[in-house]
Amino acid sequence: MHPGCHNDPNMAPAQPLRILELYSGIGGMHMAAKESGVPFEIVGTYEINTTAVEVYQHNFPDNGKRSTKPRNIMGLTTDHLASLHPDLIMMSPPCQPFTRQGLKRDVEDARTSSLLHVLDLLSSVPHPPKMILLENVSGFETSIAREKLIGVLTQRSYIWQEFLLSPTQFGVPNSRLRYYILAKQKPASLPFTTSNKIEEEFPLCLCVKEASRGDDINRCSWCSKPSLPTIHHVMYKTHASHLQTTSHHHAAHTQPPAPLGNNLRPDTNIECHSHSVEVLSRGHTQTPSHLYTTYTQLPSPLSNYLDSDTNMEPYLLSDKVLSKYHMILDIVDSGSQRSCCFTKGYAHYVEGTGSVVQHNTSISMSEIYSEVEKMEDESGKLELLRRLQLRYFTPSEVARLMYFPGWFSFPDTTTDRQRYRLLGNSINVLVVTCLLLTLIEG
Ligand code: SAH
Repeated sequence: MHPGCHNDPNMAPAQPLRILELYSGIGGMHMAAKESGVPFEIVGTYEINTTAVEVYQHNFPDNGKRSTKPRNIMGLTTDHLASLHPDLIMMSPPCQPFTRQGLKRDVEDARTSSLLHVLDLLSSVPHPPKMILLENVSGFETSIAREKLIGVLTQRSYIWQEFLLSPTQFGVPNSRLRYYILAKQKPASLPFTTSNKIEEEFPLCLCVKEASRGDDINRCSWCSKPSLPTIHHVMYKTHASHLQTTSHHHAAHTQPPAPLGNNLRPDTNIECHSHSVEVLSRGHTQTPSHLYTTYTQLPSPLSNYLDSDTNMEPYLLSDKVLSKYHMILDIVDSGSQRSCCFTKGYAHYVEGTGSVVQHNTSISMSEIYSEVEKMEDESGKLELLRRLQLRYFTPSEVARLMYFPGWFSFPDTTTDRQRYRLLGNSINVLVVTCLLLTLIEG
């Protein structure tokens, strides 16, 4: 539990957690902190991309004082870091040096120099932060940069746990496998046993029985994993056996309340196996406004995430893309319970950048494709493909799948191309919220 957290209402008010947000982008980490319900203060942000800084300021105007100018991490000094005295550093360093596309140049890539600078600062600052949360692509776990990070954590007496997690494990129908590390300075601990193995499952249960505020549930009665007291599993008076056996049964009592912390449309037909996760912060007086619906054992359908009233015309795939790339598209529809990771090249490059939506579901995609295969004539093929009304996810749909809160928006001046790029670089807010609560609670 961080020093500001307390359970006793007679104790002094909680001190906000001092967070330094490095590589702040459009503020995914800040959003996760806000969604966690934990009192916090962003003591500094560092980001060089001017468009990202504009979006950040648009969403966090109160933080403006600290983020008025794009700032390079290379300019952060040990003295300045010491003067900020953060409790927690949250960071997602550039991932290109660790991807195949970025040629995996690792520490040789100039884009890693700022991370190496941060590691130098961490090893020399008199009082390093009590906690660190770092996110990167899968691939980082085998890098030299990661070895250097572990070296500094060891030198500065941290305990840590590494993870490879995707939002699909949290009931979100979007893949985004990412490396995360939670680190905490000894003698503090994490609420589970750490190991050198990279965890590929979230180690705590987020889907336990109905709980009331303040209950200390240490173990889930369904799956017996340890559970977080701060994550309350409310909503439906269903039982584990019921959940397992009636996954396709639409039960009358499963209408959840309208989501508060997210702009998902309320599920009207949520299935019996679905249940909500309410993230409350134990001992804090503030009313939680973070209600995640659709935390399901199986990802919920994309219909929960799609815009209902947008003009789809601008998002339709061009004839050129249809003709040239129709065989490599990943096509989903509103009933699908999955979608591919959206990268920053989405809607600009086709291959491997994210799924597209079949907007017209009155016809069968497989039938159209088998017709297309038989056809010689290019214009005939195109005519058939057009009927599917294949379109890109809109930026707001991508943001929703990344669990950005409903209050997040882009300035009108940000183009769609910029929006996709910025979102593609960002994080899944639900996953990071869960990790952050885990880190703070231990
Ligand atoms: N977590 C962020 C995105 C991180 S992506 C979000 O939610 O949006 C990595 C970011 O690091 C990019 O936005 C990039 O512009 C920024 N960056 C790269 N090198 C940097 C440096 N030396 N100083 C500050 N920011 C840097």
